Amino acid sequence: MHRSIAIPKDLKEFASRLKEAGFTCYFVGGAVRDSLLGHVPEDWDAATDARPEQVMQVFRRVIPTGIQHGTVTVLWKDRRVETTTFRVDGDYQDGRHPKTVRFTQDLIEDLSRRDFTMNGMAADPASGQVVDPYGGMADLARGSVKAIGDPVARFMEDGLRPLRAVRFACRFGFHIDEQTQAAIPITIDRFRQVSAERVRDELSKILVSSVPSRGLFLLDTSGLLPAILPELSACKGVTQGGPHRYDVFEHLVRACDAAAPTLTLRLAALLHDLGKPACRLEHGPGDLSFHGHDQEGAALASAALKRLKFPNAVTERVEALIRNHMFDYSDAWTDAAVRRFVARVGRPLLEDLIQLRLADMAGVTGVPADPRVLMPLVRRVQELEAKDQAFTIRDMAIKGEDLAAIGWPRGPLMGKVLIELLDAVLEDPELNSKERLLFIAEKLKRKYGLASGT
Ligand code: ATP
Ligand code: MG
Repeated sequence: MHRSIAIPKDLKEFASRLKEAGFTCYFVGGAVRDSLLGHVPEDWDAATDARPEQVMQVFRRVIPTGIQHGTVTVLWKDRRVETTTFRVDGDYQDGRHPKTVRFTQDLIEDLSRRDFTMNGMAADPASGQVVDPYGGMADLARGSVKAIGDPVARFMEDGLRPLRAVRFACRFGFHIDEQTQAAIPITIDRFRQVSAERVRDELSKILVSSVPSRGLFLLDTSGLLPAILPELSACKGVTQGGPHRYDVFEHLVRACDAAAPTLTLRLAALLHDLGKPACRLEHGPGDLSFHGHDQEGAALASAALKRLKFPNAVTERVEALIRNHMFDYSDAWTDAAVRRFVARVGRPLLEDLIQLRLADMAGVTGVPADPRVLMPLVRRVQELEAKDQAFTIRDMAIKGEDLAAIGWPRGPLMGKVLIELLDAVLEDPELNSKERLLFIAEKLKRKYGLASGT
């Protein structure tokens, strides 16, 4: 491994500015690590002996992001450079944020507060020379995520670090150093105190990474999983029979790998069978059923995502995907069946639902599913849409006011009759004209105990 990294020209200029003002400046953390691994860093963080106020005097455009922790964001050319004064952290009384920080003149001291050896390196802007006091390069070479200093003490300071260890191991396909991993169960109570938001953000990064199963299996073996998603832990050892090669837990983890890397799809794939443990019925040897697990799973997933403070839009979409994940499309479906399906799940969910179904199938055997089995469904929906066929009440040729005009009272009854009219239109799109629907609505009055008009 090289002992130096390439520093982009504009960042060299950034550092020169500080130097000309009499300060030192290094690039630190993720950018150094990623460069050594041959990846292009997303953002570059700088560390300096200049105080935040001094940094603000050197540069014109500066956002005071976290002055009390010594951090400002410098807008430099097209970049945002997070610039933090060399510091040592004081007590982490809540296991989250250092209560106090002490600024220092010493880079090595600053690097010592960082979480892992691979994140505890700095690069000199002029030469690109890497400063590596804690053996980060050697750990990168052996593929090891290792805490700086005593892992138990470091995890007690900030309970989030174990999850960060899993995240970095997942991202790079590394293992966690033995002693570092051994500290996770010892400090698990500290981890449980970490805010849901911080856990959510790390978990999300694991889920949208290229191989989330690496992280998910590590969460399990390290003992973190029950503290994050006990519902998922409960799927371990739950056998499924039939074509299933894996227990419910491994099925879910493999489905997650197979899903496209968006947060909602990965969450839906990971959680779609959470209802199976509660719904499992054994009728005979190898003869199992999981009736209702889609509804049960949707409810469990929704509760879990609320607990983890995911945004409502994410939670609701994942819940809807799980609620509707049990469908078996075949070309034998009639057009009416296709229309009813779209009406039930909602058009905006269709593509993701198909993606979820394919991921689910891949998780049964471990072999990627052939997308061609479900693509005809999308094509047929598009064809029906092109013919302007109705899938929702909004697509119908009459509105509530048309019904009111012939004597239907507004309120729940009108909702019912609109649904009944939609059912008729889904069955036979020819009925979707104002005249015909009004005719049917007139006839329905008797069923709902309304006096018929003239
Ligand atoms: P990413 O590419 O995911 O952003 P990163 O290494 O830049 O990775 P950040 O969370 O952006 O990670 O943090 C920047 C640096 O700050 C880290 O490299 C590490 O040195 C330090 N750091 C961040 N969070 C912690 C923490 N909880 N405890 C100790 N050091 C931390
Ligand atoms: Mg970063």
